[in-house]
Amino acid sequence: MSVGRGGGGGGGGMHGMPGLGSIMQQQRALRYLKTGQARSTRETFGRVWQYVRVYRGPFAIGSALMLAGVAIGIIPPLLIRQMIDVAIPRGDFDLALVLGAGLLLVPLSGAVLTLGQNYLASVVAQGIIADLRRKLYDHTQSLGLDFFTWTPAGEIQTRFLNDAGNLQAVLTQTFFGTLANLVTVIGTLVVMALISWQLTLAAALALPAFAFPVLHFGRRRYAAVEIAQEALGDLTNVLSETLSLSGAIVVKSFGTEDRESARFAEVNDNARKAQVAQILEGQWLIVIVQVLAALGPALLYTYGAYLVIHGQIQLGTIVAFATYMAQLYSPASSLAGANASLLGGLAMFDRVFQMLDIPPTVPAAVRPTPLPTVPTSGIQFEQVDFRYPSGVGRENLGAEVLHDISFTAAPGRLVALVGPSGAGKSTILSLAARFYDPMNGRVLLDGVPLAEVERHELRERLAVVTQDVFLFHATLRENIAYGAPEAREAEIEAVVEAAQLHDLVTRLPDGLETVVGERGFRLSGGEKQRVAIARALLRQSPYLLLDEATSSLDSQAERRIQLALERLIQGRTVLAIAHRLSTIQRADLILVVQDGRIVERGTHQELLQHSGLYEELYYAQFAPDIDGRDTKADVAMSYHDGVNDERQA
Ligand code: ATP
Repeated sequence: MSVGRGGGGGGGGMHGMPGLGSIMQQQRALRYLKTGQARSTRETFGRVWQYVRVYRGPFAIGSALMLAGVAIGIIPPLLIRQMIDVAIPRGDFDLALVLGAGLLLVPLSGAVLTLGQNYLASVVAQGIIADLRRKLYDHTQSLGLDFFTWTPAGEIQTRFLNDAGNLQAVLTQTFFGTLANLVTVIGTLVVMALISWQLTLAAALALPAFAFPVLHFGRRRYAAVEIAQEALGDLTNVLSETLSLSGAIVVKSFGTEDRESARFAEVNDNARKAQVAQILEGQWLIVIVQVLAALGPALLYTYGAYLVIHGQIQLGTIVAFATYMAQLYSPASSLAGANASLLGGLAMFDRVFQMLDIPPTVPAAVRPTPLPTVPTSGIQFEQVDFRYPSGVGRENLGAEVLHDISFTAAPGRLVALVGPSGAGKSTILSLAARFYDPMNGRVLLDGVPLAEVERHELRERLAVVTQDVFLFHATLRENIAYGAPEAREAEIEAVVEAAQLHDLVTRLPDGLETVVGERGFRLSGGEKQRVAIARALLRQSPYLLLDEATSSLDSQAERRIQLALERLIQGRTVLAIAHRLSTIQRADLILVVQDGRIVERGTHQELLQHSGLYEELYYAQFAPDIDGRDTKADVAMSYHDGVNDERQA
C-alpha cells in the first residue's frame, strides 16, 4: 500500500512494503471487480453511446464514408459482367478498355475512402479511449485506500492500458465493422437479387450454413479470449509486484528468488496455455469457414451452369455472382459471429465501467461545511469504532481495530500516541487524515465532522508526515513542492534550511534540480524523512499528523531530524505517533493505546505517577538506559523541567 500512489499528502504508506500475496489471494480480492452487478446489454450500450456521442461529427462523416465505400465495392462485379456478356461477345475493345479502367479506378477510390474512414474511426476510438482513461484515473484518485490495498497494481494497470487499449479494436472492428458488414451484406444481396433472383436464392441458402458453426465457435473463442485476458492480468500482477523496487527488496531480503521464479513460471505457463487455446479456437473457425466457403461456388456454378444452359442467364452473371459471393463470405461470417463479438466488445467496456462504478468508501462531501477560518477546537475523536475493510467496499469488514476512541487535540497542543505494535496508533492517524471513515462515532476538525469537510480544505488544513516516504521520480524540488506547487523560491529555500536539507542540496550534483526517487539518486532514510518534513513545512497547514520514523539513525542524523521536527511542530496542532523521548517529553497529552482502546491518558509526568502500561513502555522503549523505577520521580522531574525550559525559550 502506498499513499504516494494515490497521490496523497506527505507520501509514504503507513504500512510499508506490499505483501507478495499468493495468486489465490489476489483472485479472491479481485472477485469484487468480476462479479460487479450484472448490467443489461442495453444499459452498457447506452453508456458506450454516451462516450461515442462526444465525437458524433467525425463519427457521422466516417459512417458516410463507410457507406460510400460499401456502394463502390458493389460496382466491380457489374463491370466484369459487362466485360464478359457485352464487350467480349461484341468484340468491342474500346468498351473493354473503359471497363478495365473502371476495374482499376473503382477499387482505387474505394481504398481512398477506406483510408479516410479508418482515420476517422481511429480519431473517434482513440478519443473515446483517452476520455475513458482520464475518467478512470480521476475516479481511482477518488477511491479510498481500501481499493489500493486490495487491488494489485498490475490489475489496475491492465484495466488502464490493456482493456482501455483493446477498445480501439472493439470500436473500429466490432462496432463499426459490424455496421459495415451489415450494409455490405444487405447491399450486395439486393444488387444480386436485381441481377438474378434465382441465383441469389441459391446463394442465400448457402449463407445460413455458416451461421451455426460460426456462432458456436465464436462463443467458445470469446470464452477463450476472456481466459487468456485474465491469465495476462495475473502475469502483469506478478511482474509489477516482484519487479518493483519495494517488491524486489522483499524478494532479495528473504531470498525468495526461486519461489518467485516458480510462481512466475506458473502464471507464465497459464498465459501460454490460454493463448494457445485462444489461437486454436480461432483456427478451428477459419478451417470450418474455408470448408463451407467451398460449398458456395459448388452450388453456384452447378446451378448457374443449369441456368446458362437453359438460356435463363448469361455467363457474365455467374462470374459476377462468384465475385459477389467471395465478397460476401467474410462480412457474412463476421455477422454470424456479430452477436458474440458485440457482447465480447461490450464485456470489454464493462470491465472498464466496473472500475468506474466502484463507489468511493470515503465519499466526497455532497454539501460541504466550510471550516472556520482559523483553528478553533482542534481534532476531536468522539467514541470512534473502526474496522478495516477486508476487501473493497464498506460491506467487507474485518475485525474491530479501534473501540470507543475519544480525545481532543486542542489547537496548539501536541498529542502523542504511544502503545505496543499493532495497537491501532497508525489507524487513529489514518482516521484523522480521513483515509478511512469510522464505523461508529465521529472525527471532527475544528468542530466540523471530517465527512462534511471539502477534500481540498481538509488537505490544506492538515499535513501528514508518514514513516515511509514515497518520492516521485522527479527532481528534489518537485518532490519537496509536491503539496504546494506554487511555492516561491524563497519559501522552498526556507524549508530546505528548516528541514536540515541544506547540506544535501549542496552535495547533490544538480542541487534541488537533481532527480531523486525510485530510479534516481538514492537518498538515505534520514534524508527522505527530512524531505517529508520539508514537504509538510511548505504546506503551512495548522494541523500536523506525524508518524515519527522508528528507523534507528546515528546520533548526528537523529539530531538533524530532531531539529527539523522541532521546526515542524512549532506553532502547529500535532497528533503524533511518538517514537522519540523528546516528543513524549514535550507532549501536552499522551494517549496510551492498547488493543484498539485508549487505556491510559495524561502527561508524561502524570502517567509515570502510577504503574501502568505507560511506565512499562517508557522504560522498555523510550528510556531503556534508565535503570530501575527508583529513579522514576527524578526522571519525571527532570523531563518536566526540560519541557518548561523549552517552552519558555
Ligand atoms: P505499529 O506501531 O506497529 O505501526 P500501530 O499501533 O500503528 O502499530 P495499526 O497499524 O494501527 O497499529 O494497526 C492496528 C491493527 O489493524 C493491526 O492489527 C493491524 O494488523 C490492522 N491493520 C492495519 N492496517 C490494516 C489494513 N489496511 N487492513 C486491515 N487491517 C489492518
